[in-house]
Amino acid sequence: MCGIVGCVGLPKAVGVVLDGLASLEYRGYDSAGAAWPEGGRIALVRAAGRVADLRNLLGGRAGLDVETAIGHTRWATHGAPVEKNAHPQVSADGRIAVVHNGIIDNFVKLRGELEDAGIVFNSDTDTEAIANLVAREYAGDLVRAVETALPLLDGTFALGVMAADQPGLVVGARRGSPLAVGIGVGFHLLASDAVPIIPHTRRVVFLGDDQVAVVAPGACEIREKGVPIDWACTEVTWSADAARKGGYDHFMLKEIHEQPIVLENMFRDRLRLPPASDSDPEFIFPEMEFSADYFKGISRIVLLAQGTAYHACMVGRNMIERVARVPTYPEYAADFRYRDPILDPSVLVIAVTQSGETMDTLHAVRLARESGCKVLALVNAVGSSIAREADAVFYLNCGPEIGVASTKAFTAMIAGLYFLALRMGQIRETVDRQEIRRRVNDLLGIGHRLEAVLALDQKIRRIARKYKDAANFLFLGRGTGWPLAMEGALKLKEVSYIHAEGYDAAEMKHGPIALVDENMPVFFIALGGRRYDKIVGNIHEVRARKGRIIALASHGDKAISKIADDVVRIRAESGIMNSICCAVPLQLLAYHVAVLRGSDVDKPKNLAKSVTVE
Ligand code: GLU
Repeated sequence: MCGIVGCVGLPKAVGVVLDGLASLEYRGYDSAGAAWPEGGRIALVRAAGRVADLRNLLGGRAGLDVETAIGHTRWATHGAPVEKNAHPQVSADGRIAVVHNGIIDNFVKLRGELEDAGIVFNSDTDTEAIANLVAREYAGDLVRAVETALPLLDGTFALGVMAADQPGLVVGARRGSPLAVGIGVGFHLLASDAVPIIPHTRRVVFLGDDQVAVVAPGACEIREKGVPIDWACTEVTWSADAARKGGYDHFMLKEIHEQPIVLENMFRDRLRLPPASDSDPEFIFPEMEFSADYFKGISRIVLLAQGTAYHACMVGRNMIERVARVPTYPEYAADFRYRDPILDPSVLVIAVTQSGETMDTLHAVRLARESGCKVLALVNAVGSSIAREADAVFYLNCGPEIGVASTKAFTAMIAGLYFLALRMGQIRETVDRQEIRRRVNDLLGIGHRLEAVLALDQKIRRIARKYKDAANFLFLGRGTGWPLAMEGALKLKEVSYIHAEGYDAAEMKHGPIALVDENMPVFFIALGGRRYDKIVGNIHEVRARKGRIIALASHGDKAISKIADDVVRIRAESGIMNSICCAVPLQLLAYHVAVLRGSDVDKPKNLAKSVTVE
């Protein structure tokens, strides 16, 4: 994720790169660095922390008379956010510098091979293997060296590569992560998006997958499969602010739309489904060192979280209990830690947090470890406090989430918990092999299903327009629809400031029904499944009291249109997976209502992105 900037042909290139990095800060990052060729070697300056820290470290060197430089803002995926892991990463022989966004899946193997050949590594990153691979292939022709190294890489990358002895040349490449080339007169730029390019030129080429860009001050070549191809540039008309958001009006909307790719990436890296129908899926989970015996011996699981993550844990409970047959208890960390909870080493504690810094969850993790429990963290931010203190970490790798109301991290948490449930079910033999294959297949198809749900955007906007002036909202569901209802209500509250409650629909008659009248919109999660008839019963009860009904239903459900005022339909045939798909219409509804009411969607009042106080 995060930011790359490269420059050839502009005076004071280090300063240009630095300003470019500052303009990419919105993408979220934990460290920054820059490099340039100087007297036949690579000059390198890196800092943990902000671009301002890098600027301080660079001092007068930002004004150096050089025309070639590359820079990076890192959002750590492999190795803590410390100076040695910041980019650029330089090959052991000092000849090649690389900036990289993305993840190299086979870096352990590559690193092993290079170490066997005597290369000494200085960082924990996957990126350092790329620098050393290119250096191994380098004999004066940087383009050839990069093109030889690229097919050896599995995973996602946007790269900027430079050689110490070839000032005036930067090679860019991409697979899966974005990279743009700015086309100037006598200069070229590389960047993760158009924002750092716009102050210098509005002519941009957005590189395609498996394309290589070779830029020198007066020349730009775009190559594919080792040969130059024709290219045409786009005239960027967006403002810098629009470009930051990738053309979306808000980060929240951008992050909602990132969900298919985030989840596809998660499972592409972690699941292998061999074609033979009698073979077992492989779960790739290198971070988790607990043995199979450990999983067989656990007596119960406690899921610790706050806020949105707690709702993901409620969904996770259903998944784990159904698939792995371990009693599982979602807990608000803040309540748990002060309750003198009953724990022993047979209890597995799973802490779920986007930032990895949620104070209450951190304290509860410490308490659990003091009680002898193993703690697994499901965390997005690499190197965060909870990631460091847990016994094992499952990184969600969904990239920085900038919108304060969590969206992509929520579905990634559910997906991560489902992955764990399936892996535990496989180890504990609580689910048969065909069933695991079927469920894994579902997971691997989640990206396509989410794309189809996102296509409902304009329909949901029309519904939002109809209900935007409501003073209150109820969300009701059963089974995994219950936590989804709670999350739908939370999203709406957070960004639109409408008072909303999410309940188990079975609780409706124990209180909330007293609020129902012609002014109360009630959003039902009414997909098929064991509880469907009960939900339909609840819809009738609300209708009898003149409530306004919005239903999230499956495509096949024709009857629902007769009892609901508005219906949002999704493809819903595989139980547990529906919860991931259901999240998206709820997020879109909250988003559109908030925009129509004029709220500051990305920075709702009184809320902080990560709650680092009790
Ligand atoms: N995987 C690389 C690292 O951890 C790059 C991360 C990024 O995209 O910033 O250093």
